[in-house]
Amino acid sequence: MIQSLQGIGMTSPRTRERMINRLMEQGISNNKVLDVIRNTPRHIFMDEALASRAYEDTSLPIGYNQTISRPYIVAKMTELLLESSGRLAKVLEIGTGCGYQTSILAQLVDNVYSVERIAPLQKKAKDRLWDLKLKNVSYKHSDGGWGWPDYAPYDGILVAAAPPEIPEMLLQQLAVGGVMVIPIGNRSGSQQLQRVLRTETGYEVEELESVVFVPFQSGRK
Ligand code: SAH
Repeated sequence: MIQSLQGIGMTSPRTRERMINRLMEQGISNNKVLDVIRNTPRHIFMDEALASRAYEDTSLPIGYNQTISRPYIVAKMTELLLESSGRLAKVLEIGTGCGYQTSILAQLVDNVYSVERIAPLQKKAKDRLWDLKLKNVSYKHSDGGWGWPDYAPYDGILVAAAPPEIPEMLLQQLAVGGVMVIPIGNRSGSQQLQRVLRTETGYEVEELESVVFVPFQSGRK
């Protein structure tokens, strides 16, 4: 356990530092985000066979046809959430996946509510976060298109899979003054990262860069 958390060789502190330098070159500037990424062992979120590639800026398979997002995209989405909102007491995450993004959020906000439609992926993620002693996370096995109404409204919502348009239930569960970061696009075509701010009177949508995410799928597995 200790060994796997610390990492050796390709997962060493020096390898991680190279990843941080790359993120800074790519425009990530929030020091809190960079520090948390520097100190989080990304290699424990993937199969051992792929662990040596954990600090490359690439998405990698995590089973069930899903991928762990590139470090740049995790950093960018986290930075966008943090810079546009005040205190993030409650953040809803759709798409727990392997739990890497969840672990980054858990170290920067008060409480994370993470929804995933594929049960075994979520189970593994939960175990990893437990090993990392990140206990401010609640998990729900559900179709994220419904959000998680019990704890709404959320100061932040981060969506890690791309729907063709912003799900209505997620808009409803965003607090006034809250921010949602979400990739929008269809399966084959291009996808775009969007930031949605809820104001007293409605929603402001900002279109950011092009991105590549797995599709947002309905139903549970
Ligand atoms: N941030 C995750 C990304 C995982 S990929 C990570 O770093 O590992 C996106 C995840 O979203 C997948 O696990 C997929 O199963 C999940 N997903 C897709 N559509 C969903 C939906 N409607 N509700 C909940 N999860 C969904």
